[in-house]
Parts: sequence; C-alpha cells; structure tokens
Amino acid sequence: MASKRDYYEILGVDKSASADEIKKAYRKLALKYHPDRNPGDKEAEDKFKEAAEAYDVLSDADKRQKYDTYGHNMGPQGFPGGGQGGFGGFNYQDISLDDIFSQFGDIFGGRMGGQWGGATGGRRSTRRPRPRKGGDVRIRVKLTLEEIAKGASKTLKIPTLVKCEYCNGTGAKDGTAFKTCPSCHGSGTVLTAHQTPFGTMQSEAVCPECNGEGRIITETCSHCHGEGVVKKDQTVSFNIPAGVTDGMTLTVKGKGNAARHAGENGDLLVVIEEVKHPELIRDGSDVIYNLMLDIPTAALGGSVEVPTITGRARLKIAPGTQPGKVLRLRGKGLPSTEGYGTGDELINVMVYIPENLNDKEKAAFESIKDEPNIKATESVKNRIFSKLRHIFE
Ligand SMILES: [Zn+2]
Ligand SMILES: [Zn+2]
Repeated sequence: MASKRDYYEILGVDKSASADEIKKAYRKLALKYHPDRNPGDKEAEDKFKEAAEAYDVLSDADKRQKYDTYGHNMGPQGFPGGGQGGFGGFNYQDISLDDIFSQFGDIFGGRMGGQWGGATGGRRSTRRPRPRKGGDVRIRVKLTLEEIAKGASKTLKIPTLVKCEYCNGTGAKDGTAFKTCPSCHGSGTVLTAHQTPFGTMQSEAVCPECNGEGRIITETCSHCHGEGVVKKDQTVSFNIPAGVTDGMTLTVKGKGNAARHAGENGDLLVVIEEVKHPELIRDGSDVIYNLMLDIPTAALGGSVEVPTITGRARLKIAPGTQPGKVLRLRGKGLPSTEGYGTGDELINVMVYIPENLNDKEKAAFESIKDEPNIKATESVKNRIFSKLRHIFE
C-alpha cells in the first residue's frame, strides 16, 4: 500500500480546524472531484475517495483524537492480531463510490445525485449485497503493571454468537431446506427502473425478497430458530504486547460474533484497563516512587528498599541526600509500545521531619543545632537550589 497522506493535508485544513471547517473543506473537495463531474477520471475518483476517508476520521471526535495521537500507523491495527481499519473506519482503496454516497449522502444536500447525476446521463448505480459481518464483541481486560511490563497472554471464555452447527450457519433445517428465490431467480439482485428528468434510468438493487442471498429458507433450523447463530462461550487466546496503556483497544480479528446466515465473524475488541499499583505511579513509560527518608538516613547515608515493577530493590542513599532529589533506576520502567526502549523508575526523595519529639530527641537536636554543619548558609542554599532548579522553575 502506498504511504498515506496526512488527513489534514488532504482536506487542506489546520490541525486545529473546527468541525464546521472540516465539513466545509470536505464538501468543497467532494464537489470538485465528484465522479459525475469527472467521468472516467481515475485520479479524480481516487481524490474523491481519499477525501471521504479523511472526512470519515476527522469528522468523528473520537477517531480524530486517536488519529491525532497515533497517526496512520499506530491505531489498534499496529498490534499483533490487529486488523486494518483501526479507526473503525474504512480504507478508501477498498470501498465503492456507492458506500461513500450512502455514508455521507447528507453532506451533498441531495444535490449531487440530482443535478450532476442527471447532467452526465446518470451513473448506473450497482448495489451488490455486502458480505455479512457479525457484530464486534467488546471486553475489558484488567492488567497489573507487572503484566503490562512483560506483555501478557490471556485465555478467556467469552460469551459470543457462534455458527449453529446443525444448519452450518444457514438457518435452514439441516442446512439444506432452501428454494431458489422467485423474485430474482437466484441472482440476488433485481433491476429497477425509475424516472428522472433525463429519462428512464435502470439500476440494479439487492433483491428485497431474499436480501441478496438468491435463495429462501423453506424450513427453519429448530436449534437456532433460523438465525444461523447460537449463544455460546467461546474460549479465545490472545497476546497483549508490553507497554499498553489504560483505555487502549486491541483488535482480535474474527473472534467476535458470527454473522447471521453465514458470513464473516466480527472482531473481539479488547479494552485495556490498568490496575493501579499500590506504590508505583505510572507516567508514560516511566514509573514514579515517592521515597520518604528519615533525617538520620538522609544525613548519614545508608541503604533503603524500594518497590519496582519486578520486585523489591535496594537503593544506596548517599550522605547528605536532599529532599527534592530525584534518583533514577534505569530501565526499571515500562517498554514503550512504539519501540523506543524502556522507561526508568524515578525515585522522588522526601525527608520526614519528626512531628512530635520526646525529651531525649529534643535534647539531641538542641545539642547540635548550633554546630557548624547544621545551618544552611547562603552558599549552601545557592548550591543546593541550583541543583534543584527544575523543581522551582
Ligand atoms: Zn431474491
Ligand atoms: Zn441452526
């Protein structure tokens, strides 16, 4: 597939364009490249479809946000098991003009079909029955930080609609109780004639009698009551790549509901839910831990234990460690789904100042409070504040 152009560039609008501006820009392009105005012009048709795809994504707030975040390649289709059309939209190369008209007919305000449709003698509209597709099934999967760090394999029982075995998904008794459709004689399409200001036009349409199947059930399957599908728990296994984030949706192709009367299965949409870690805070591919030192450890140095995603780790504390200092455990964060390596664990140092002192403790502080290294002099302040500048700025 050729590399895709930026959707904003296609419509010629800014990234900050309002919904109205996007609609106007699309309408202008759609009129310019409309196939009725450019008969037989393949390039115009491609431009027309390209604009429709851009509009499909940018006119939908949800898809637009995903596109802004991930671009063309980082939708759910970027993951193993992900399919094309990650925006839940379509790929303009795969669709017919008719689909564009049926999807965005409103934007043409009824003018396109009438005015230009007639002026060029009319487009012969051919509607073929679309392959049936079962519905998508959405599930939520909770993952701990540990699982997100390593990636996870899940095997789950998911209630879905599956093909009825007794009728092989046809809905007809034993899968054989059919007769040829009398309206279309098995072709699945019928010709209809309609009057236009420019004469009679014929078009092919899906046969309404048999829904384009060309045959009609004479006796329904008693197991599925003619639906071709039955409810069943399906065992589905899938892998979740490392580094996923809360709210991300992964697509497992073909593991959704089976289609009525046979056809393509829907997809299983796995929505990631991140379980909060009791001690670590996630920040993209880094994790943050707030460490509280006591005064003696901060002043004398020592060793403390800190949690990491993979277990506890010992951390050396240098003598004179200041509150506000950030220590870094390299590579102890999460891998990035974009493949930019692994994040770090950032340890935010705080120092606990005792809130209640007994007589002995008070005496200890009193006895050292005027010692030369206890007071923060101007030069000490300058040195420490300059190191901690990032916190104050
Ligand atoms: Zn028919
Ligand atoms: Zn059945």
